[in-house]
Amino acid sequence: MTVHRYHRQTLLEGIGTKGQERLRSASVLVAGVGALGCAVADHLVRAGIGHLRLIDRDLVEPTNLQRQCLFAEDDVGSPKAAAAATRLQAINREVKLDIVVDDLRPTVASDMIVGCDAIADGLDNFATRFLLNDLSVKFGLPYAYGGAVGFEGTAAFLRPSPLHRQHLITREILEEDAGPCLRCLVPEAPPAHLTPTCDTAGVLGPVIAVVAGLQAAALIQYLARETHHLPHVLTRFDARVMRMHQLDIRESRREDCSTCCEGQFDALENTNGNQATTICGRNLIQLLPPEPRPTDLDALRLRLSAHGTFERQPFLLRGTLKNELDEEGEPVGMTIFSDGRVFVHGMLDASRARAINNRWLGG
Ligand SMILES: [Zn+2]
Repeated sequence: MTVHRYHRQTLLEGIGTKGQERLRSASVLVAGVGALGCAVADHLVRAGIGHLRLIDRDLVEPTNLQRQCLFAEDDVGSPKAAAAATRLQAINREVKLDIVVDDLRPTVASDMIVGCDAIADGLDNFATRFLLNDLSVKFGLPYAYGGAVGFEGTAAFLRPSPLHRQHLITREILEEDAGPCLRCLVPEAPPAHLTPTCDTAGVLGPVIAVVAGLQAAALIQYLARETHHLPHVLTRFDARVMRMHQLDIRESRREDCSTCCEGQFDALENTNGNQATTICGRNLIQLLPPEPRPTDLDALRLRLSAHGTFERQPFLLRGTLKNELDEEGEPVGMTIFSDGRVFVHGMLDASRARAINNRWLGG
């Protein structure tokens, strides 16, 4: 199986059987297993990557099925990272997969990256992308940035300078191969009300395939080839006019960049963070404890059973509270994860969500 399933890939110049071995020894962090994360992971697993670590906090929703290529109807309600891993393992049983059903937050980010050779971006917000960028610079790892919304998508394979690298790694970015980091290109996150999201603007499924294809094409070549000629470019694709536009970013490194030039890792060090967040496309509030708060879900189910209907599922406890009504007048739904994270469904009001959380789970 090992010899011939990769035959068409080993035929490629610069890959061959040695490149295939290099891929097999490589490990990638896939941050976010939504549309982009699914598609990038699918490519990497079929290509014969050795190890993938998948992290995602969310559950599969019916509206994900339009574009998130690893999920089927039966997966609705399951944690995305777990459903994706089941599918990926069926595609290639040789790949080692480990999953984390959690938010990628500062307190866990450095642990997530240990042993990884590269980062694949499957995220939907800039706050967490800056966290990936900090990891990329601090650990000296390439960062396959990607984003898609509406009819447009963007991708760039970022290899920041190793100047501030604080960790030993196996695959080195050389100073002469270094370019800008994400913060050189986007110094501050755009304000939320000015940023279109998949919730407000929708997204065309095939745009995802284009962006994820660019991310995966760079990752596979970088990890498999002894030498590569991947340019420092930002590629934009607009499906409305079927055009790609490329921006040369080799010289876009900013001398005042707080991350890759000054070595400040603000996103990684911000451990207080905002504890209440909305989730793109979902009518719910996520409440995040400052530190993981291990929760005994079986005990909690017993306690809550007098106040509503709760069902224990792998990784979580989910149900409704009979005495709390949401904005539609329906019983409020809650999903509680074993690390203490809580989804309060049916609302976008963070303070009400906190109040309900405090009332039923003791804050
Ligand atoms: Zn920078």
